[in-house]
Amino acid sequence: MAAVQRITVLGATGSIGLNTLDVVRRHPARFQIFALTAQRRRDELLTLCLEFKPRFAVMSDAADAQWLAEQLQQARLSTEVLSGEAGLCAVAAHDEVDTVMAAIVGAAGLPAAFAAAQAGKRVLLANKEALVMAGAIFMETVKQAGATLLPIDSEHNAIFQCLPVELQRRDNVPQAHHGISRLILTASGGPFRTLPLAELAHVTPEQACAHPNWSMGQKISVDSATMMNKGLEVIEAHWLFDFPPEQIDVLIHPQSVVHSMVEYCDGSVLAQMGQPDMRTPIANALAWPERIDAGVARLDLPQLASLTFETPDLQRFPCLQLACDVLHAGPAAAVVLNAANEICVAAFLARQIGFLKIAETIARVLDQIPQRALATLDDVLELDQQTRAVTRQRLGLNT
Ligand code: NDP
Ligand code: MG
Repeated sequence: MAAVQRITVLGATGSIGLNTLDVVRRHPARFQIFALTAQRRRDELLTLCLEFKPRFAVMSDAADAQWLAEQLQQARLSTEVLSGEAGLCAVAAHDEVDTVMAAIVGAAGLPAAFAAAQAGKRVLLANKEALVMAGAIFMETVKQAGATLLPIDSEHNAIFQCLPVELQRRDNVPQAHHGISRLILTASGGPFRTLPLAELAHVTPEQACAHPNWSMGQKISVDSATMMNKGLEVIEAHWLFDFPPEQIDVLIHPQSVVHSMVEYCDGSVLAQMGQPDMRTPIANALAWPERIDAGVARLDLPQLASLTFETPDLQRFPCLQLACDVLHAGPAAAVVLNAANEICVAAFLARQIGFLKIAETIARVLDQIPQRALATLDDVLELDQQTRAVTRQRLGLNT
């Protein structure tokens, strides 16, 4: 049996975090929780700490951290509570950690995911925004530090599973050798795939978050409704697998059974299929290169009436086009796209702007901020902050 893996779960109280802990719970001899983190949901983090008894817990806010520390002390647990970004980076890079699940949503997750990569950890990456913002710097750091980067996003995990093992291990074998001609990302099309276009202007956050196949956090749910999520995933695939944008395609597959595909030059197309349940990619990455039970129901193929595929309608989903264009426009454009999107999605969720305003605003902000070189993580974070300010100003928001 492999040695016990000591795991930090960044974003433990979120959708990916809880699914991770569900898989961990099934394999107590294999995994041990080293640290758990949350932003606001302190009661939930307390409950998780009481169950998993981690060495560290991290809350974003110092007052919440103080409260959590008191509760844990009363419960006679020795868990140490840290706070803020420094706390996140400390538990991501700690000497005693083997594996870091990077499951904080948005740009907020980048510094700690980066710290894990820099420390040479086994990094399970759900936080796609980290790669969108800092793809080149992140991948170079993974390489230099000897970190192992495993994709959690279901599409990227599917592609990973369909790759030859030398590419999974990132052995130094030329890609051409493997004859891969195309990566095909599938997309459900979200809740508005068939809604009459005229009605898109009036959709509510509740409608946008009611995803037909997946239960996820609010931000990624809205991203799925605009298909910005798939755009971010094209950028993520570009960096993760080192493929040019021309060789990455998107297909709408409303049943969410085929999670993505790899096409080879001999005409073979390898697909990974399964239930739309994130515990499958999470278990795959936790145990890789072994396989473990994820608690996921078997796929009942005879029960599936049909599997269908169609090309996305870019008029309905302008965010997908914006994200694909960004790949040709250079690294700064990806930072701007991501930051503007995060502000717009938050404003939509807060009912400050309508659904169509999301794509319209991102396009304007992309035009407004000039290209520049991004040499370091600080350059990336500075451009992120600047873009947030410009986007808020454009939307007339103060905070
Ligand atoms: P959730 O909103 O459900 O959870 C986000 C987690 O991050 C929570 O633990 C939250 O804490 C914490 N968090 C949020 N903001 C901050 C911050 N500023 N600083 C520190 N911690 C913070 O998101 P998901 O689990 O849905 O998504 C997480 C990531 O995984 C995203 O990047 C998403 O794109 C990606 N992903 C998610 C999938 C899914 O099925 N959900 C599928 C594929 C990728 P708190 O609970 O206290 O607010
Ligand atoms: Mg995905």
